[in-house]
Amino acid sequence: MSRVGILGGGQLARMLALEGHRLGVECVVVGDRAWDCAAPVATYRVADLADPAAVAAALGDTDVVTYEVEHLPAATVAALGQERLLRPGAEALVVGQDRVREKQTLERLGIRVAPWAQVDDPADLERAAATLGLPLVLKTRRQGYDGRGQAVLRTPEEVAARAARGDLADHVAEGWVEFTRELSQVAVRGADGEVCFYPLVENEHRQGQLVATLAPAPRPDPEHIGEAQQMTRALLDELAYVGVLTLELFETSEGLVANELAPRVHNSGHWTLDGAVTSQFENHLRAVLGWPLGVCAARGPTVMVNLLGTVPPLAELLAHLGAHVHLYGKEPRPARKLGHVTLVGSDRAQVRLRGEALIQAIHG
Ligand code: AMP
Repeated sequence: MSRVGILGGGQLARMLALEGHRLGVECVVVGDRAWDCAAPVATYRVADLADPAAVAAALGDTDVVTYEVEHLPAATVAALGQERLLRPGAEALVVGQDRVREKQTLERLGIRVAPWAQVDDPADLERAAATLGLPLVLKTRRQGYDGRGQAVLRTPEEVAARAARGDLADHVAEGWVEFTRELSQVAVRGADGEVCFYPLVENEHRQGQLVATLAPAPRPDPEHIGEAQQMTRALLDELAYVGVLTLELFETSEGLVANELAPRVHNSGHWTLDGAVTSQFENHLRAVLGWPLGVCAARGPTVMVNLLGTVPPLAELLAHLGAHVHLYGKEPRPARKLGHVTLVGSDRAQVRLRGEALIQAIHG
């Protein structure tokens, strides 16, 4: 039996393990909490993720190690990269966890990003506001996700107030991107370098958090499809990447602008469980195990809606025609990702309508 080690025990590990189970793959999930939602469906072990020896002991024998979170301690990543087959590799992780490294890598590959500046003190922030203009998005350099660790500064007074507050080490300031919509490109690269692209999707965010994904993205500009694939392939090849990667994009009147990359399976790829020929989770396992990749095409137009903070009564969700409900078994907490629902169909307009009703029912 193949054994895949997964660092991090949340819903992404859970969905990897569920897909692994179907393929006869044992997933050994190492998390740093006594219980996490991958525990009931995987071989779950607890270790301090900052302690490389403890992580190695918890993993035991594995064919390959992968991860479901990019914010892993550097010492653990370095040790794993040296001692084990780690896919994606340590460099992808280091680039994915640091917004400065991420932007430098994207720019080196000729991929457009929002104008940005590194911010470590109040003078940096004032300078960034003067050169990048307002509004300005201030983000923590590391550990930020789902809009956490970021603030939009709209007026000189807000900039001055934030500068006066201090505590600005390890930040990044970004110029405001006037986007028409947010898109993402999920792709998988096999151990032999073969790349397969999922359809470009459209994402709806509220308060920085993903609420819904429409797959494939409605009315995509054909040029943008090519551009997104070209950007993603350049990144995958540069990082000698093995596994699933997501590039989050802003669609603007002047073309695509890269927002950030995720070196792992991604929320905007959850629709693939029901709506694609091969899910992102299965393809990630296939890639890291050195197996042939599965087809990434959509089975039909799909809408995925996140369940955030609370879960409506199951019967209400299941009453939506064609709904596939995925619950992660987590305790409700404000804004916490507790599950998702997908609708797949054959008629784009009809799926859109049913999707809008579902978004309305769940998020208002
Ligand atoms: P992030 O954590 O970088 O993915 O940002 C969360 C969300 O904030 C994005 O999905 C956008 O909706 C918004 N956002 C982030 N950066 C910018 C920017 N430079 N300009 C406009 N909106 C942004």
